[in-house]
Parts: sequence; C-alpha cells; structure tokens
Amino acid sequence: MNDVSRELLLSIVAPCHNEEEGLSEFCRRAVATARSMVGDAFEIILVDDGSTDGTCDVIASLTQQTTQVLGVRLMRNHGHQLAATAGLAASRGQRILLIDADLQDPPELLLMMMPIMDRGADVVYGQRVRRQGESWFKLASASLFYRLLSRLASVTIPRDVGDFRLMRRRIVDILLSMPERDRFIRGMVSWIGGRQVALPYERDARFAGATKYPLRKMINFAIDAITSFSTVPLRISTWLGMVTAATAIMLLLYTLARWIESETIVGWSSIMAAITAFSAIQLICIGIIGEYIGRLVQENKRRPMFVIENLIQNGHSLDLASN
Ligand code: UDP
Ligand code: MG
Repeated sequence: MNDVSRELLLSIVAPCHNEEEGLSEFCRRAVATARSMVGDAFEIILVDDGSTDGTCDVIASLTQQTTQVLGVRLMRNHGHQLAATAGLAASRGQRILLIDADLQDPPELLLMMMPIMDRGADVVYGQRVRRQGESWFKLASASLFYRLLSRLASVTIPRDVGDFRLMRRRIVDILLSMPERDRFIRGMVSWIGGRQVALPYERDARFAGATKYPLRKMINFAIDAITSFSTVPLRISTWLGMVTAATAIMLLLYTLARWIESETIVGWSSIMAAITAFSAIQLICIGIIGEYIGRLVQENKRRPMFVIENLIQNGHSLDLASN
C-alpha cells in the first residue's frame, strides 16, 4: 500500500462470507456514511473469508469503483471472528468500525457513534433492543447464551451486544496484541476496559442471503465464549464430583446398616441406575476438562490466526508472496 502517508480518520472493517448479493449495497451505504463524516479520510476493508460464491469478484469491482475500498482475501474460511481480526490487523485508521456485511447492523449508526467517541468514549458498541427477521429459536438461544455468559464470565460482558462497535486505535492495537487463537472479540474488548458506551439500536433483517451461523456453529461459538472467559464449568464439575461422592457415602452407610440388621438388599436395577448416573456425571466432567485441555493444545501450537492470500486495491491484486 502506497498511500499510508495520508492520515486516515476512519476504518470500516467488514468480514464477508458468501455475501455477493448484498455487498454492493452495503458498500454504497458505508461509503456514503463515512464520506459524510470524514470526507475522503477513510478506508473500507472487506475481508473475503473464503467465500465460494462471487464475493471476491464483487469486492474486486468495488475496490475499482472507490479507491478507499480495500479487499483482504483469506486463503480459506476462518470464521467470522478470525476474519474480523484479519480486517482489524489490516486497518490503519484512528477509529475503527467493526460491522457485519449483511446490513443487519446499519452503517448509518456511525453518525451517532462518532459524536459519542468525540466526547471521550474508547468503545461505542451497538446494543440490540429489537431484532427483525430472525427466528424465535435464534432469539431465544441468543438470549439464553447472553444470560449464561454474563453469569459465568469473570469480566462483565454486556448483554445483547454483538461485534458491531466503533473502537479507538489504541483499543484495536491492544486487541491485536492479545495472542489467543480462540477469539471472542466482544468479550476481549470488554476485558480491555476503558470507557465503553452502549448505543441501543434495532437490528434489521439481513439484506440478502442467509445466516452463516447454523445451530452447530452457534453451539461451538457459545462453548468458545464460555471456555475463554470462565473456568466456572471446571469448578462446577468439582462440585458435582463432591455431591456424588457424598451421595455414594450415604448409600454405602445405608447398605451397611441394612446388612448389620441382616437384611440383604436385592435390586439390580437400582444399582444399574446408580452406575449409569455416576458414569454420565463422570463423562460430562471429563468432557468439560477435555474442552479446556483441547484449547490449551490449540493455543500451544501458536499457529498464525489466519492466512491472507492477497490484498485487493483499485481492482488489482497485490500478491503477498512477492513482498
Ligand atoms: N461471516 C464470515 N465468516 C463466516 C461466517 C460469517 O466472515 O464463516 C460474516 C458474514 O458474512 C457476516 C458476518 O460474518 O458479514 C455475520 O454473519 P451472519 O450474518 O451469518 O451471522 P448472524 O448475523 O446470523 O449471527
Ligand atoms: Mg447477520
């Protein structure tokens, strides 16, 4: 990139996975909003997270139409959190807006976020007061997740808040210096602290296309979030162990007393029930421990978080291999 000398006031970072239908509209609205706030001193970074549709071509043509638009193409699909991280790593603006590319988060909200930051906020995050066009199941599971997380996590992670947020450069630099691979960005930003201000907004329905978060991914995301921000599940498994041990001792005493009274107890099914119950508890606890150990192994490998294939600027691909 050759125009780094120009002072960039704003970066808009949007991860995109198979968003060909809505991307031009997103870009149009994002460019218009950015321009109305900072003139030409902005950049829009569209991260192509291993899309299998025409997203990459759409990004290339958008970079051709507007010089402020840059494309970052990942080698494969790394998932929303890592794609966002790749975009943040490429950004150079003094303030950075992280936003979904599906227009569920209106880019125009920037008009309200910027003045709040002018008044001293380090982070202005969008808090969803209502969500349009999402299934009751998504709403119910999201609500359960946020409530569970806020009870378990050791830092306060605000409820009903996604990754849609405006951050100061300093916050983004700290975020990028955090080395963990399992990234739960909204939690990590909460961990950083500083002056974080909520801005309530209504979440729109998707402009086009379908959600990329099916149930399986949502559960994985929830487990990632909980294990990276809380060790309470480990504590719970210890407590479960103690409670079952106490139950077992009482059962033993009871059997002993009956034996002294020379009453032998017949009851194959009750023994089977007890064995299955205890084995289930043990397996769950081992599973919980396994989740944490698995993460230790992953983090220990210290692999790069994402691999960039190329950058796209003015419709041309900048090959990283030749640099
Ligand atoms: N996304 C991504 N990589 C993925 C899945 C999603 O970059 O593997 C992007 C997607 O293009 C969108 C944002 O992340 O801009 C949020 O995804 P989505 O709308 O599917 O999630 P939801 O809003 O349903 O939670
Ligand atoms: Mg969405």
